[in-house]
Amino acid sequence: MVVGVLVEITNKSVDRIFDYLVPKSLEDKIEIGKRVKVPFGNRTLVGFILEKDKNSDVDNLKEIEEVLDEEVILTKELLELGKYLKETTLASLISCYQVMLPKGFKASIKGKVNKKYRKVYYLNDCDKKLTDKQREVVELFTGKKKLNREELKDVSTSILNTLVKNNILRVKEEEVYRLDYEESDKKIKKLTPLQEMAVNNILTTEKIVSLLYGVTGSGKTEVYMELIDKYLKKGKKSIVLVPEISLTPQLIKRFEERFGSNIALLHSALSDGEKYDEYRRIVRGEVDIVIGARSAVFAPLSNLGLIIIDECHSDSYKQDNNPRYNAKDVAIKRAEELGAKVVLGSATPMLEEYARGLKDVFNLVTLEKRVNGKELPKVELIDMNKEIGKAKGHFSLPLIDEINKTIEKGEQVILLLNRRGYSSFVTCSNCGESVKCPNCDITLTYHKSSNILRCHYCGYATKYEITCPKCHEKSLKDLGVGTEKIEEELKDIFPTARVLRMDVDTTSKKGAHKKIVDAFSKGDADILLGTQMVAKGLDFPNVTLVGVINADTSLMLPDFRSSEKTFDLLSQVAGRAGRSDKAGKVIFQTFNEDNYAIKCAKENDYKSFYKEEMKVRKLMKYPPYYYLVSLNISSKDSKQALIEAKKCEKVCQKYLDKTIILGPSPASIFKKQNIYYYQLILKYQYQDNIHEVLEKLVEYYATINKVNLDVDFNPIHL
Ligand code: ADP
Ligand code: ZN
Repeated sequence: MVVGVLVEITNKSVDRIFDYLVPKSLEDKIEIGKRVKVPFGNRTLVGFILEKDKNSDVDNLKEIEEVLDEEVILTKELLELGKYLKETTLASLISCYQVMLPKGFKASIKGKVNKKYRKVYYLNDCDKKLTDKQREVVELFTGKKKLNREELKDVSTSILNTLVKNNILRVKEEEVYRLDYEESDKKIKKLTPLQEMAVNNILTTEKIVSLLYGVTGSGKTEVYMELIDKYLKKGKKSIVLVPEISLTPQLIKRFEERFGSNIALLHSALSDGEKYDEYRRIVRGEVDIVIGARSAVFAPLSNLGLIIIDECHSDSYKQDNNPRYNAKDVAIKRAEELGAKVVLGSATPMLEEYARGLKDVFNLVTLEKRVNGKELPKVELIDMNKEIGKAKGHFSLPLIDEINKTIEKGEQVILLLNRRGYSSFVTCSNCGESVKCPNCDITLTYHKSSNILRCHYCGYATKYEITCPKCHEKSLKDLGVGTEKIEEELKDIFPTARVLRMDVDTTSKKGAHKKIVDAFSKGDADILLGTQMVAKGLDFPNVTLVGVINADTSLMLPDFRSSEKTFDLLSQVAGRAGRSDKAGKVIFQTFNEDNYAIKCAKENDYKSFYKEEMKVRKLMKYPPYYYLVSLNISSKDSKQALIEAKKCEKVCQKYLDKTIILGPSPASIFKKQNIYYYQLILKYQYQDNIHEVLEKLVEYYATINKVNLDVDFNPIHL
C-alpha cells in the first residue's frame, strides 16, 4: 500500500504531501488522520497520513518506519476544518493542523509526552496467616477492588513488597491522569425568569449564533451552565471558550462544582503532561464538556452540540501568529457543519458582533438587569485637570476619601491602573532621550524592584543607570507610572491598608494568579491593585469600591479600536463593584471628561457608545462597515523590506480594483528583534478575488528567502 503523508519541512512551511510505501506488517494500523514516522533525506520526520491506497508509479518509494497512534488524531471533521483554516488565513495546511493539537499530538519528532503511571494494588483471595500489620493493610481493601499507591500512602513500601511477594497482593503499573476534579453537590441555582427566558430563546432559535448581551452580573454564566445541562440531556456535548483561562479561576470553579469530572480543561497554564492527559480524555470520549482558551475550539468532541464563547469581545480569540484564525469564526464554521449552536456572551460585545445582532444575522438575547436586582454601580468622574494640583501622587482627594471610607467599613477596593501601551519608561530630563531596546524599536520598561530596564518584546535587559547614554548627564528619570509605583504611593497614603498587587510580574509563576484571587476573596487584603487583569471576570461580593487611576491611557493608542477598548475596560472594571447585596461605587480619574467612550462608560450606556462609535467607523471606513486586511512585509534589510512592500502595493493596485490601499508605512513597531516591518492596509466592502490575489502573493514570498510576507485578515490591532 502507498500512503500520502503531510510533513512539516521548512520554517516557511510549504505544504508537501510525500508518498511512502507501507510495509505489510504495518498495513493493519494505517488510517487517515494517524501520525507516522517517516525517513526524509537523512532525517526522520513525523507526519499525518492524509491519503491511503494511493497509486504511485515511483519505483523506489521509501517505507514508513512506524505508526505512532492507536487512535485517529485528526478526525474527518478536523481534516476538513484544517482546509477551511488554510483557505481563510492563507497559512500552510500543516500549520493549520498543528495549531489544533496540543503538544504530544502534533506531528513533531521532539514533542513526545509520556503517560503517567502509578502502582496499583489488587487483593488476591487467600487464607494465609497474616501479621497484625499486614491485616491492617488488607482491611483497607474492604469493599474495594484496587487501591493505588497514593491511596495507600500511609503504608510502608516494605510491607507492600512483602505482601506482593507472599502473593497476598498483586501489583500493576497503570496509567493515571494528572489532573483531579472534585465532585461537589452544591445546589444548582434556580434561574430567574429573565435567565429562564434567555435559555429558552437560545434553545429554540433557528439561528446558529446567539449573541447573549448581558450587563456584568446579569447571570450569564448560570445561563451557560443551564444550556450545557439541557444539551447533555439530549446527549450533546459542549465547548466553553474563555479568554486566558488561567485568569478565570472563579469561573472554572463554578463549572467544576456543577459538572465535576465531566470536564476537561485545555489551556496554556497546564503542563504538557496535563494537556496530553486532558486531550486523551476528550479523544476517548470520557468527557462531555471542554473548557479552554482559544485553541480549545478545535477539541475533537463527538456529538458536539454547543459552543459557548464567553467575553466574546476579547482579543484573545484571535491568534496573532500563523495561522491567524479567529476562534469565533472557527466555532461558527464547526456549528454550521455539525448542526450545532454558538453562543457569544458579553457585557460589551465587539461592534461587529452587536451590529450583526441588530441586523438579525445573530439571534440577539439581552439581559439588561443584574441578578440581584441591584442597579449597576454609580460611576463618578474626577476631572484630573482640576484635581492634579491637590492630588497626592496619582490619587485625587475624592478617591482617597472613598478608599478610606470603604476600608473603615471593612469592605474591599479594586484599583485599576490602565497601562495598555503605556508603561513605565525612563527619559533624560536634559536631552529628552528615552532609553530604547537595541534590537527593537520600543522604549525599555523600568522594573524598580530589580533596578532593571527590560524590553517587553525580546526580553533584552540592562541595569538602570542614572547617566544618560546619549548626553552623559546624570539625569535619567523614571517617568511613566507602573503598578509598583502606585503600590508605593498606596503605602504612603494608606499606611495600614493591606494591598495585593496583580500584574504580569506578580502572576508569572504557575498558580500565582489564583493565589492572589483566593487571598483577596478570603479578605486577606483591603485593596487589590492591578492592570487589566483585575478588570475581568472576577466576582468578589465584598468589593464595593472600584477606582480607575487613569481612565484615559488606552484612548491614546494609535488603533481604530482604542475607544472601544477603553469603553470595554472601564465598563468591565466598573462591573466588579457591588455584585452582592452591598451597593457599589466606582470612580474614574480622567483628563478627558468629555470623551464619549468615558462618558458612556460612566453612564453604563453601551447602546449610546455603539451609536457614536459606529458613526466614526463609517466615516473612517473601518469595520463593521469595511473589511480590513493587514499585509506585513519584513526583512533584516530595511531597504529591501520597503522595496518588496512597494511591489505588493503595485500588485494590489492592479488586481484589487474595489479596495482602498494604505501604505506601505513602517509598522507600529518598526523594528523587532532586528527585523524591520512595513505594513500595507487594505479596506474593502466587496472584493471577491481578494483571497485569490493574496494567496498568489503568499505563495511567491514563500519562495523568497530574505523577505517574509504575513497576511492578517480581520486583524484585531493595526
Ligand atoms: P455574569 O457572568 O453575567 O457577570 P454571573 O453568572 O457571574 O454573571 O452572576 C453574577 C452573580 O450572581 C454570581 O455571584 C452568581 O453566582 C449569581 N447568580 C447568577 N444567577 C443566579 C440565580 N439565578 N440565583 C442566584 N444567584 C445567581
Ligand atoms: Zn527588544
